[in-house]
Amino acid sequence: MIEITSANIEKAINKARQTKPFVKVIEFRLYSVTNKTTGATYEVKFSKLGNKKLAECNCKATVICYHIGAAIGAHIVLAEQMHTATA
Ligand SMILES: [Zn+2]
Repeated sequence: MIEITSANIEKAINKARQTKPFVKVIEFRLYSVTNKTTGATYEVKFSKLGNKKLAECNCKATVICYHIGAAIGAHIVLAEQMHTATA
């Protein structure tokens, strides 16, 4: 798991905007991200440890990659919906 910071996630989101991968929700905090050009699919997981936000992707990257950048968009929407639902 890699800690998400505003700096590393911004980079990843920018890269995701250029690559435009396809994001599918598997379950809350678990997403599959497919590169439309290569067809390669990776799984992205999010978790929380205290105040730290963590993410993990099963691609070769050991940093916050663009798969995480793509998935976090869906994750934020879903998290907000769940928050609204429980409020
Ligand atoms: Zn990745």
